[in-house]
Amino acid sequence: QDAIDRKEKRSETFKTAVHGLEMDTPVLKTEELGRRAPQWVRDNLVTMCMRCKETFNAITRRRHHCRACGYVVCARCSDYKAELQYDGNRLNRVCQECYLFLTGQVVLEDREGKHKGILEKGAAEISGKSLLCSSLQLLDKSGKGGMRGWFVIPQDDPLVLYIYAAPQDVRAHTSIPLLGYQVRDLSQGDSRHLFQLAQSRQVHTFVADTEELKQRWMKTMARCAAGITPPEEEGEDADS
Ligand SMILES: [Zn+2]
Ligand SMILES: [Zn+2]
Repeated sequence: QDAIDRKEKRSETFKTAVHGLEMDTPVLKTEELGRRAPQWVRDNLVTMCMRCKETFNAITRRRHHCRACGYVVCARCSDYKAELQYDGNRLNRVCQECYLFLTGQVVLEDREGKHKGILEKGAAEISGKSLLCSSLQLLDKSGKGGMRGWFVIPQDDPLVLYIYAAPQDVRAHTSIPLLGYQVRDLSQGDSRHLFQLAQSRQVHTFVADTEELKQRWMKTMARCAAGITPPEEEGEDADS
């Protein structure tokens, strides 16, 4: 890892020398992720992880580059490997967001489009005024592992499920527009409290901690997916 980082540093120094101090790093379009080599965001242009926003330091939180989006991220946020088409489908270090996108689990918001900034909502803030919020697990495609996070459907934005890595995060990890999804109960033959959002080829599988919580999520998601905004009395905190 040290060798890789030293190599990164040299190549960054080289780029800076060639291109001077241009500040704008072109961002790959979502559909280009993994297909085109990204231009790496330069280490010296960020002070915090571009995913978790934790401040970098030389010892416990060092800089790494996601080979898919080129963002500077910490080790924890880039502890994922995905096959990248531009690199002959070899496994490369990628950030969690690219990992979820490249493995087909979550639809990324178009980072250049009109939805830019939709994820810039504080989890704590919107959880206070939500139709439902709780900890859930989003399974990956194998159904074995997955991401545990904090899931919120805001009262004032009831067609969108926001997914946070933690309940106090200032920025959502991703979001899923709910309209048009079918909600499926998946408990048969599984001791876990599984349910699914499905729409054409998009499928998201969730695990709730309790059956009661699962039923509340399924009911709320089904109404939101159908465009019916649930009445306010369903808006209390799931953990209360
Ligand atoms: Zn990335
Ligand atoms: Zn990070």
